[in-house]
Amino acid sequence: MGGALTVRLHNDRMIDSSPAPFPASFPAPVPPLEHVPVVVVGAGPAGLTLANVLRDAAVDCVVLEAESREFIEQRPRAGFLEEWAVRALERHKLAGRLLERAQTHSECEFRIGGERHRFAYAEVTGKHHFVYPQPLLVTDLVREYADVKGGDIRFGARGVELHDVDTEAPSVSYTDPASGERRRIACDVVAGCDGARGVTRASLPPERAHIARLDHGVGWLALLAEAPPSSDCVVFGVHPRGFAAHMARGPQVTRYYLECPPGDDPENWPDERVWSELRERLSVAGAPPLTEGRLMEKRVLDMHNYVVQPMAYGRLFLAGDAAHLVAPIAAKGMNLALHDALTLAEALVAYYRTGETGGLRGYSAACLRRVWEYQEFSEWFAELLHGPSSGDPFRAGNATARLRRLFGSPVAAAAFAESYIGSGGAM
Ligand SMILES: Cc1cc2nc3c(=O)[nH]c(=O)nc-3n(C[C@H](O)[C@H](O)[C@H](O)COP(=O)(O)OP(=O)(O)OC[C@H]3O[C@@H](n4cnc5c(N)ncnc54)[C@H](O)[C@@H]3O)c2cc1C
Repeated sequence: MGGALTVRLHNDRMIDSSPAPFPASFPAPVPPLEHVPVVVVGAGPAGLTLANVLRDAAVDCVVLEAESREFIEQRPRAGFLEEWAVRALERHKLAGRLLERAQTHSECEFRIGGERHRFAYAEVTGKHHFVYPQPLLVTDLVREYADVKGGDIRFGARGVELHDVDTEAPSVSYTDPASGERRRIACDVVAGCDGARGVTRASLPPERAHIARLDHGVGWLALLAEAPPSSDCVVFGVHPRGFAAHMARGPQVTRYYLECPPGDDPENWPDERVWSELRERLSVAGAPPLTEGRLMEKRVLDMHNYVVQPMAYGRLFLAGDAAHLVAPIAAKGMNLALHDALTLAEALVAYYRTGETGGLRGYSAACLRRVWEYQEFSEWFAELLHGPSSGDPFRAGNATARLRRLFGSPVAAAAFAESYIGSGGAM
């Protein structure tokens, strides 16, 4: 990011909208029709948090979202927020309904070899998880940004393309869903918050996008049951038939996971097989039976992680799943997305208020520190959960040693607790 550009400078800049003299066979370039300081691509937790903080600081932005408002407000995914993330949202006045409605969790439970081991991580760290389904958070953030603050968000924006992000005059074009016409927005900065399947990451030239990737070699059948939780905390079932998990999503909804072969077809998992396998892998003496219910979601996740380094290129800044994916092993993805969004927002606000570019230049390094901390923990934890069912006696032995150390050593327990709840850091 060169020089101390300001909004005023940018707004004053002449935008050349005359068509370029291409031969008739070339599609005519779409002229820039408007200019905003920041275009945010994607209205997930990352994009919406960023947009809200920018709007509060009077930095104009446009959010381009491929799906409809109804769709993103109902898309089920994450449900656990780490306490530092909730407190950071609270400081930005974005946690009102969350704090009213979310349950807090302070323990998790491991079930292995027919025994239950409770792990009271909040006793060690003083920090809790907040159980708040992602669709509720997205609904709150959209309402706050669009309805309360009057922010500009364009749903159904298809064919998003980034242009000239390595210059001082980037722009973003998209197809307007109502008119079918291409539109182009000139901007100073593009925030790529369009998740794991978005387009912004593809704008990084191959020689600049270093992608570190880890494949776990297993699938998880992700299930959402219309049934009250069967435990007051997250339950990890470590089992030779494969890992299983139970996670509350609300008073009447529970997420379950079942380890399965990668690429497995959800059709191979009729409801009866799902419940029978969950009972097998999660039942232990003394635990209440699983409350069963209609399965509203059944999809196979091929468990993998990746990190894009650096997370910025020219005037494009990636945030959230667009920059890194953590398989949902320790409920880290949404929390990392919020960390990126808040870090980027702080850097952009400083830039537009004072011309200070240090935050933007340091953005990628600041985010990657936490990203790698979470990746390392996720990989360590994955091995503990998958080792016993891997068929490899060495991996199974290692996993058992990890569990024994976790329950036998207060120092190991404290280290686990700190990583599980997410290190705080100033946000
Ligand atoms: C089954 C499951 C369970 C999970 N559980 C947890 C959990 O408990 N805790 C946790 O922290 N994380 C969890 N995660 C991860 C979490 O959901 C993600 O990390 C989080 O959604 C990332 O937020 P984001 O804003 O970066 O991306 P997203 O939420 O993916 O948002 C990206 C947005 O961009 C839009 N978009 C995509 N492409 C385009 C385009 N070309 N143009 C315009 N818009 C586009 C998308 O429609 C979407 O609205 C889970 C994920 C899954 C799949």
